[in-house]
Amino acid sequence: MIITVTKPTLPELDDYVELLRGIWQREWLTNHGPLVNELETKLKEFVGVPNTLFLANGTVALQIAIKALELKGEIITTPFSYVATTSSIVWEGCTPIMADILQSSLTIDPARIEEAISDKTTAILATHVFGNACEIDKIQDVADRHGLKVIYDAAHAFGTNYKGKSILHYGDISTTSYHATKLFHTIEGGGVFSPDPALVEKMALLRNFGHLSPTSFGPAGINGKNSEFHAAMGLLNLKKIDAYLARRREVAARYDKNFKGSGLVRPVITEGCDANDAYYAVIFPSESDLLKTLKLLGEYSVVPRRYFYPSLSELSYVGPSNVPISQDISRRVLCLPTYYTISDSEVDMISQLVLRA
Ligand SMILES: *Cc1c(COP(=O)(O)O)cnc(C)c1O
Repeated sequence: MIITVTKPTLPELDDYVELLRGIWQREWLTNHGPLVNELETKLKEFVGVPNTLFLANGTVALQIAIKALELKGEIITTPFSYVATTSSIVWEGCTPIMADILQSSLTIDPARIEEAISDKTTAILATHVFGNACEIDKIQDVADRHGLKVIYDAAHAFGTNYKGKSILHYGDISTTSYHATKLFHTIEGGGVFSPDPALVEKMALLRNFGHLSPTSFGPAGINGKNSEFHAAMGLLNLKKIDAYLARRREVAARYDKNFKGSGLVRPVITEGCDANDAYYAVIFPSESDLLKTLKLLGEYSVVPRRYFYPSLSELSYVGPSNVPISQDISRRVLCLPTYYTISDSEVDMISQLVLRA
């Protein structure tokens, strides 16, 4: 049997079928149906915010966020993230400017952000890496002093808290992904969160083609809606979120115990952050150590992921940048398998193999 880096959580099939029966009865498949509305309500309760939007995916969430803030020119961003963080900026006609990351937390370095600011800069797009918070207070301080907007790509951070509340409270907009590989998922899906109700209203307009009414239109929108089928999966997964979070914590603690004294380096959790342990990242002394480990794990059908690799500074559509830490770390970092149904003995077996390699 193959052990992959993650496995999607699946609710009881009977529970899903029960929700499908309702969809069949109502014959209402998409366009803000009752299950989508119920999921949005439950998400608001879980996160503790007055509003959120359930969207088609995390990439369209980023695009709608950039569009809603009417960003132009340069957006300072991190090279240590998933490709969608950078590609969304380019897709929206803006220029990504890479600022290097902190060696400790692997999140964007506020000092490097400040250095990268030019008269064309309009915003900062930062990623909460592996569920660990960015230097939120310092980033906000830079943004306030220079009049910049802040978007957080919080695709990894559902269930993470910062200073006692959900991390999704921070920045002008936070975006999430509810893709099947994430800790909380709706098969495909994403979301936006903002403390500004007017901004959420604008994003609601943008996700629905810009429809003001069936026959009138506001700004040029996109189809960012999600369906009743995806919302049904989300409702069932959200019911079990506490168990999902607890198991990730146990798995991380078990790897930590197994690796004690081994010299393997782990990202440092940002002060004030209660991270969700969505990913278990280890940093090897060298890329050849990583490759040796990958090979040995592969022989035992364990398939971790080189995540994030390569550094996004290498993308063909990004200009030259000076981000040595991101380039170095991306070659040496590996995410080990962690998911709800992984067993203790599998975690121990993987740990032994990593130590042996
Ligand atoms: C998964 C992910 C995305 C993209 O989300 P999708 O829902 O797959 O479009 C964006 N950024 C980060 C950091 C991610 O991990």
